[in-house]
This record gives sequence, C-alpha cells and structure tokens, in this order.
Amino acid sequence: MEISCQLICACNNKLYKSQASLKAHYKTQAHQYYKQNKEQKDYIIKVNRLENENGHLRRLNIILLERISELEKKMKMI
Ligand SMILES: [Zn+2]
Repeated sequence: MEISCQLICACNNKLYKSQASLKAHYKTQAHQYYKQNKEQKDYIIKVNRLENENGHLRRLNIILLERISELEKKMKMI
C-alpha cells in the first residue's frame, strides 16, 4: 500500500504539487490575510471561553461564600 501526502491549504482548498509551492503560497497576501483572520477568530473564541469560565467561577464563589456565612451563623448559635 502506498501512502501519499496531499498538500492542500485550508485557506483556498487548492492542491499544491510540492512542499516548495505550498511554502510559496504561505507567503502570499491572501494566505497571510486568512492566517491573521483565523488567529483573530481563534483568539476571540479563547477570550469568550475564558470569560464564560470566569463568570462561572464568580457565581460559584458567591454560592460558596454564602454557604460559609450560613455555617458561621450556625456555629455562633452552638
Ligand atoms: Zn493558504
């Protein structure tokens, strides 16, 4: 069985004949624009994920602080 490697760039789905032609494509303005755009989208997704996690942890923190406060009140009654 022969294993082949296809050189396709995700920015345009074009097949490149060699590693050198793909590398040359990477330097083009169109690919650079795609790369920057993708990095920016990935960054926004990462920031949104971190903001959601931060919100979840803040809500959890409020719940835990309320529980601590309730326990401290009960302990004072004893
Ligand atoms: Zn490309």
